[in-house]
Amino acid sequence: MKELNELIETCKNYAFDLNFTKAKEWKEAKKDRVLVGYMPIYFPREIIHAAGGMPVGIFGGGDNKQIIKGDAYYQSYICHIPRSIMEIALDKHMEHIDGFIFPSICDVIRNLSGVFKQQKIGKFVKYMDFPQNFLPEIGGVFYQQEMEHVLKYIKEINGKTPSTDELNHSISLYNRNRSLIEFIYKIRQEFPWRLSIEDVYNIVRAGTVIPVEEHNSILEEICEHIKENIGMPQDKIKVVVSGAFCEQPSLGLIRAIEEAGCYVVDDDYMLGSRMILGDIDASSNNPLEAIAHAYINQSQYSSSIYDVHNPKENRLAKIVKDRGADGVIFASASFCDPSLLDAPIFQNAFDKMGIRYIAFQYSENINQYKVIKEQVGTFSDSIKLWEDDTTVLA
Ligand code: SF4
Repeated sequence: MKELNELIETCKNYAFDLNFTKAKEWKEAKKDRVLVGYMPIYFPREIIHAAGGMPVGIFGGGDNKQIIKGDAYYQSYICHIPRSIMEIALDKHMEHIDGFIFPSICDVIRNLSGVFKQQKIGKFVKYMDFPQNFLPEIGGVFYQQEMEHVLKYIKEINGKTPSTDELNHSISLYNRNRSLIEFIYKIRQEFPWRLSIEDVYNIVRAGTVIPVEEHNSILEEICEHIKENIGMPQDKIKVVVSGAFCEQPSLGLIRAIEEAGCYVVDDDYMLGSRMILGDIDASSNNPLEAIAHAYINQSQYSSSIYDVHNPKENRLAKIVKDRGADGVIFASASFCDPSLLDAPIFQNAFDKMGIRYIAFQYSENINQYKVIKEQVGTFSDSIKLWEDDTTVLA
């Protein structure tokens, strides 16, 4: 078994490789392999895997990519991620990726799919609508049709239609992936000092750009390491981070939150990799229906889903309770409509429930965290010093 530090370093190198080298090597190793890039938040990666492809998560350039050309495609008053994705594309870092999926999350992502089409980036560009109707016979059927459409694009490239067994095998691999990631979060809930949230982030993000089989092996080894009583507890409160599901905070900011006195015991940074709660049925005669069923019945709350019968403020409150967290940090990318429109809904509800929170905005390329660190540190101190006071600092 490899050392924990070595495993984490490997993951970090994969996670921030803007050339997607691992995916390129995987594709070149065998004929008819297909790479399909997907944007945040969520995409059913199982179907790409079953069709002889590899899904590749594209989460922007963070603070590793200087934006020069990408700015020309967008006005100043929108978020940063589409600019850095354009910069990566225009610098030809994604030439080996065959097609691109843009999940329906907001107008910015929708428009980015149009820019990709206009610039003729990739062999196909698919804007994928996710159902907002949660009736299996309506939203479920619609979602299956969307997945069939994606499979049709892949078949046009490699001629392959996945069998039921292949789809079920892929589902079981991703079930394993999600359960290993959840094991890490369960350990951190109780012993957050065993693995920093920065390490967890690198580990989970690596899984979006390497084959799932390899990621599962890495996760298995990491889970073995953190079963041991490693690290030293520190005097920090526990928090849940919410709102950072699309444009990713830089690694420095993720680290700064914990350094300022908050163990992050749950978050939505890499929400897509954790979107489905529990297993998808891997023995169905209709695997696409099983994936649709899981999306309708087992998906995590998110700002891209409007489920009026299952209010997201109650769901976030349950996460806070289940994780034993002391409060919530609402972290939104600047100009991120879905996150910023949801924030007041959460905050109004939490005022009534007595759940403490703070809120700030970031951009993927900021690397000055002094003000945020002070805000987070004050939040932590206020909870440690006045535990029974439910005063909200926002
Ligand atoms: S950061 Fe927000 S506004 Fe920007 S693309 Fe993502 S969801 Fe849309």
